[in-house]
Amino acid sequence: MIPPFVRELMEQLNEHGFECYVVGGAVRSALLNLPVHDYDLTTNALPQQMKEVFRNRRTLETGIRHGTLTVLVKGEPVEITTYRTESSYGDHRHPDHVEFTSALRQDCARRDFTVNALCASMDGTVHDFFGGTDDLKRKIIRCIGSPDERFDEDALRILRALRFAARLGFAIEPETAAALHRSKELLKYISAERIHEELNGFFAAPSCAEYLMEFRDIFEVFIPELRNLSDEQYETMLASEKRSGENPLIRTALLLRLCENPESILKRLKYSGTEIKTVLTLISGTERPLKDEKDLCRIIRDYPDTAELFMGYRCALDPSLNIDSLLAEYRQLTENGACCSVKQLAVNGNDLKNAGLAGRQIADMLNEMLEEVIEKRLKNSRPDLLGYIGSHKNDGA
Ligand code: ATP
Ligand code: MG
Repeated sequence: MIPPFVRELMEQLNEHGFECYVVGGAVRSALLNLPVHDYDLTTNALPQQMKEVFRNRRTLETGIRHGTLTVLVKGEPVEITTYRTESSYGDHRHPDHVEFTSALRQDCARRDFTVNALCASMDGTVHDFFGGTDDLKRKIIRCIGSPDERFDEDALRILRALRFAARLGFAIEPETAAALHRSKELLKYISAERIHEELNGFFAAPSCAEYLMEFRDIFEVFIPELRNLSDEQYETMLASEKRSGENPLIRTALLLRLCENPESILKRLKYSGTEIKTVLTLISGTERPLKDEKDLCRIIRDYPDTAELFMGYRCALDPSLNIDSLLAEYRQLTENGACCSVKQLAVNGNDLKNAGLAGRQIADMLNEMLEEVIEKRLKNSRPDLLGYIGSHKNDGA
């Protein structure tokens, strides 16, 4: 199950007398029959020894102080890290220092969850010191060691637990779950950027609603505005999250739409300008009519880049809407070249100038004609539009 480009590196370390295992996400995914995106390797070779072994290859040394060498094989980066232990986490996020060790078990012990601490050797043997294989079978996220201590060391693990659980559809083991609730205030030590990143990962997971329900108190630590939602409003939000697809921006809009001032929440969590604009645009369209072709045309007009996202958002809110038929209707409209934007009108700004209009009048007239065309009161043909301009150009004067 280990691809040749990874085996090459493992063999190279073995030939020099070092151990090397695939560790973490790749083993977890492989055992769950899920696709593997990247391979992390762990070895007893010290950083200098790794550099020596791989001196003929292209490497990146950005993480070398913490024991990580990135080796590029056929353009693919593979991270190889020396077995290490971590001690005292003064800032509740990063170890104050790391120490290299020769024991694989110790390297596994520093990892967050049992299912993330599985190692595979080249022949496919899985080394499992903390019961990760059983937890995979039982679909459980469990901390290695004392969950309270592990969350106190690195509070980001609180959100990682929720993200992995939501992504894999796993339950959180009761001791770990209880510690999550007890440790939540430690999230204050985590930067807004990291919270934002984890939240996006959480929302990209298939089942996020049940965790939003069970761990509402945790989300309230970094979005205190959620405390003002009534139980009924929170239920409504959860129901919409359940109906939604795995799109983080749609799900963020669904989470925040009933809160006061979503913009300030997004800014505080360091969302980008584009993300903020998209989420606020979705929220502002919550009540827009979406019954017929004309409504759909106006959506395309007003959401030129995000029409599909908008439809996803609205379908999550309204169980009577059906995303597949809406998307089919939308595609038909765009494929048939239905006129849904002023750019598609059979006249342009110059034609309006020639008819004696100037400045704002031009934009106003184009918008007015588009509305007439959408309403099917006017045909989108050059003579019809020119005729309309002739007879209406003095209306607003
Ligand atoms: P993903 O598919 O999300 O990349 P992953 O398991 O590969 O999942 P990473 O964040 O890439 O997760 O980290 C790789 C491995 O490093 C994890 O499987 C885990 O063993 C360890 N790890 C990462 N972050 C932490 C942390 N904050 N605390 C403890 N161990 C961690
Ligand atoms: Mg990974």
